[in-house]
Amino acid sequence: MDISVIVPLYNEEESLPELFAWIDRVMTAHKFSYEVIFVNDGSTDRSWDVIESLQQKSGNVKGIKFRRNYGKSPALFCGFERAQGNVVITMDADLQDSPDEIPDLYKMITVDGFDLVSGYKQKRYDPLSKTIPTKLFNATARRVSGIHNLHDFNCGLKAYRKDVIKNIEVYGEMHRYIPYLAKNAGFTKIGEKVVHHQARKYGKTKFGLDRFVNGYLDLISLWFLSRFGLKPMHIFGLTGTLMFMLGFLAVILVGGTKLYHLVNGLPYRLVTDNPWFYIALTTMILGSQFFLAGFLGELISRNSQERNKYLIEKEI
Ligand code: UDP
Ligand code: MG
Repeated sequence: MDISVIVPLYNEEESLPELFAWIDRVMTAHKFSYEVIFVNDGSTDRSWDVIESLQQKSGNVKGIKFRRNYGKSPALFCGFERAQGNVVITMDADLQDSPDEIPDLYKMITVDGFDLVSGYKQKRYDPLSKTIPTKLFNATARRVSGIHNLHDFNCGLKAYRKDVIKNIEVYGEMHRYIPYLAKNAGFTKIGEKVVHHQARKYGKTKFGLDRFVNGYLDLISLWFLSRFGLKPMHIFGLTGTLMFMLGFLAVILVGGTKLYHLVNGLPYRLVTDNPWFYIALTTMILGSQFFLAGFLGELISRNSQERNKYLIEKEI
């Protein structure tokens, strides 16, 4: 099979028939063999009925219905697990992404050799309250992930080589950072294509402004995981040691001064009157705690399935 199109959806009943007809038109015109996997993420409207009726009319339609609303990432992950096409395309169900882009995206993967191609909604039809934070979001994501050529990490329209989606795990709300996940898994040929964007025709957006807060937190987690996920001691051990050393120096300072004063018969004060005493106390305790966190992290990562995971590209 050439192409799997994965469409995660939550309450998009009005858009689905139009979307599928459009995808089908494009696929037929280019003679692609394809499947469309609709992942119904716990919709409370008639979306599932629409998917069922589409499935009865066309052999290219597959549908999955979640028991409740889990989020876009689990929906994508579920679609990825089932996808059979050599090239996998994800697109939103709300008709904001255009199926006309599919043939070019397909070509970029199969001919130009990209692992992943992300859409770039250069001209967006979204409210300003969304487009401005989005610019900031993308700039940060570029810096942190080191993927400098992407302008639109969270674009719903993306194309992947099959290998990529079978080897990354999208979870939580990590759909915003799939290119970063792919890069961390070793798929570094990541490209971008300017795509047409349309205003939402039916229904309303499913994400509020909290997407930006959660997005930043997730980015920090991903950065941490990719740097220290398998070697937590390298970060906690280092900070712990530095702190402990600072505390130790303070102890020597406090003890040394006291001894010096005692030996030379100078007037002396209680060590607890010395501010360095408290600095020594806190930093030594914090330092040990950091170390302990490092050991615990190592114990946890030792039990992780991923502790020795690598992807082999070629072997001779
Ligand atoms: N979506 C989903 N589960 C959710 C929220 C959204 O499957 O919990 C789908 C939604 O139906 C749409 C896509 O994810 O197909 C993108 O959502 P939306 O268009 O609301 O996001 P925006 O375009 O505003 O970023
Ligand atoms: Mg949308």
